[in-house]
Amino acid sequence: MIAAEQRPVTALRGVGPALAERLRRLGVAQIQDLLFVLPRTYEDRTRILPIGTLVPGLRAGIEGEVQLTEVKFRGRRQLLSRLADGTGHVTLRFFHFSANQQAGLARGARLRCYGEVRRGPLGLELVHPEYRLITGEAAPLEETLTPIYPTTEGVAQGRLRALVAQALAELRTAGVQEWLPQRILESQQLPALARSLEYVHRPPRDARLEVLAVGRHPAQRRLAFEELLAHQLTLRLAKENLQSAPAPALRDARGLEVRFVDALPFALTRAQQRALDEVDADLAAARPMMRLVQGDVGCGKTVIAAAAAARAVGSGAQAALMAPTELLAEQHWRNFDAWFRPLGLPVALVSGSMGARARRSALEAIASGEVALIVGTHALFQERIGFARLALVIVDEQHRFGVQQRLALKEKGDRRGETPHQLIMTATPIPRTLAMTAFADLDISIIDELPPGRTLVKTVTLPEERRAEVVARIEAACGAGRQVYWVCPLIGESDELRWQAAEDTAAQLAEALPAVRIGLVHGRMPPAKKEQAMAAFKAGRIQLLVATTVIEVGVDVPNASLMVIENAERMGLAQLHQLRGRVGRGAQESSCVLLYRQPLSAVARERLRAIRASNDGFEIAQRDLELRGPGEMLGTRQTGLAQLRVADLSRDSDLLPRVQRAAEVILADHPDIIAPLTARWIGAGERFGRVG
Ligand code: ADP
Ligand code: MG
Repeated sequence: MIAAEQRPVTALRGVGPALAERLRRLGVAQIQDLLFVLPRTYEDRTRILPIGTLVPGLRAGIEGEVQLTEVKFRGRRQLLSRLADGTGHVTLRFFHFSANQQAGLARGARLRCYGEVRRGPLGLELVHPEYRLITGEAAPLEETLTPIYPTTEGVAQGRLRALVAQALAELRTAGVQEWLPQRILESQQLPALARSLEYVHRPPRDARLEVLAVGRHPAQRRLAFEELLAHQLTLRLAKENLQSAPAPALRDARGLEVRFVDALPFALTRAQQRALDEVDADLAAARPMMRLVQGDVGCGKTVIAAAAAARAVGSGAQAALMAPTELLAEQHWRNFDAWFRPLGLPVALVSGSMGARARRSALEAIASGEVALIVGTHALFQERIGFARLALVIVDEQHRFGVQQRLALKEKGDRRGETPHQLIMTATPIPRTLAMTAFADLDISIIDELPPGRTLVKTVTLPEERRAEVVARIEAACGAGRQVYWVCPLIGESDELRWQAAEDTAAQLAEALPAVRIGLVHGRMPPAKKEQAMAAFKAGRIQLLVATTVIEVGVDVPNASLMVIENAERMGLAQLHQLRGRVGRGAQESSCVLLYRQPLSAVARERLRAIRASNDGFEIAQRDLELRGPGEMLGTRQTGLAQLRVADLSRDSDLLPRVQRAAEVILADHPDIIAPLTARWIGAGERFGRVG
């Protein structure tokens, strides 16, 4: 028998297939889902305020007697009604009204109204208030605050409120399953689920609205805790599931890793060494590594990946590196080739642009095991490539590589049914607690140190009015043999507007800088043309590259020493930092000019200050999290966290360490509650394919 809370919403009175379908859009399929549609805000209809105490901006309930009702033409036809209660009077204003309504509001009628108080031409007024005529005994007031729910097309507020009320009534009779063990409720001081739900849907009249409005009441926090816990458990299960498969223990009998590291022209930084030790320990074990290496651009993640690859090859197996674009794949291939050729190891590049014959022979060499090191794009690995013995997959820039892709790699194992180890590299620093939540299916290594001798990128902010100075600076840089990036503004939401802006900017710059060779890349160009332009820039044939933000990831052009970012005030901190990481890769001093348009909002000002003040990606990420929240920081695709219903990662981030501890306890001692708990919170999303 299924629990009452798990029955479909159609079990409720008045819910047919059509309404059920519309409810699905709110993520509601089961009765319990209704309980987790939480109010956006509340109204206080528990009391009647004296009209004389009203102030603009207040949402209030009042009662009074109609003194005068008349139709006026003030620009448009409207009904004005004056209501008084002995303490003062207020105007009710209606733009849409029927003759009936007008008649009902006759002088002497008694009304109860609810609405927002505004300042109007005749003093305080309520525009289109809800109201009811009082005939005889007035109806009793509400006993609790009135919830206002997020609505969706076709499910009106009143309807939804009534449905939630039905679900709450069921909750009171049948109860709602408390999955969290008593021990966790107590140690975390969490109120019980049933009580929390009752509270958030029906706060008592003395509840503190200002606390509820920002989601920080203990009842709300308890729900957020449970939701975050459910997500944490899902990812941890995914990891356990993946790690339950055997993986080749890479012991490097040939000692290639040591030879590789010894042959490098530099010593690893302490942070690199630490990361590599963690990777080595994982690789030597007979279960698949699932490790994310996080570190700022230029901290030397690729070397770590290459050392891991050397270990795989030294263990008689293959390693493959996947990059998000062809250009990056080629760049990695060049690095790998330079490192491994001296050790007598060929590296295969599998790219979409290579000829059919070259491709076939590369694939043959991979299938036969003749080449042990393979570099290609993400897309290529989604096709069927037969590996002789793939033991390690390295993923560069995980942006487009989520939990599903990671799990899919399980099938990529070799003929002995072993799953390859996975090493994921990202240059998007994410604060540790957030990373441990969003990527709970991964272990995390952090490289928080740059190799010695790097010159910091000098960052300046300039108002748009000083553009001419910037253009002169570009001219000087190009004249001195340097190269320059110009990043175009994020105008509007559409690609169309963006590429137009990029084209306009390129044309203007071409006019202002006739001696400079200018190229253009934007998201609308076919990938091959984009890569062509990037390659020309890399080869120095283009001196000034005008681009939309497509250049964010990974490209390495050491000779580029100046970057100009237009409309920098519109970009997030993490993105600005990523972009800025494109310069400062060579020996010469580099700078980044952030052009902004006035007036600056307080947040924009704060952002520009933060980016100017710091070159440390983790510090910037922390500021970014505070300033704009994690949703944008993480992107939507690679984590289910984007679909959080109750929790808000920036508001509730202090819960995360506690959530992690609770997850440990549950995994160890209460594995039986994982399935129903995750079904409650994530089930609905998955049933509709919202969690991807
Ligand atoms: P990331 O991928 O983290 O952005 P890379 O691995 O591409 O960084 O490294 C950036 C540059 O720094 C490369 O040219 C690399 O050879 C060099 N490098 C890496 N580690 C060190 C080190 N410990 N000392 C000096 N240079 C290093
Ligand atoms: Mg890199």
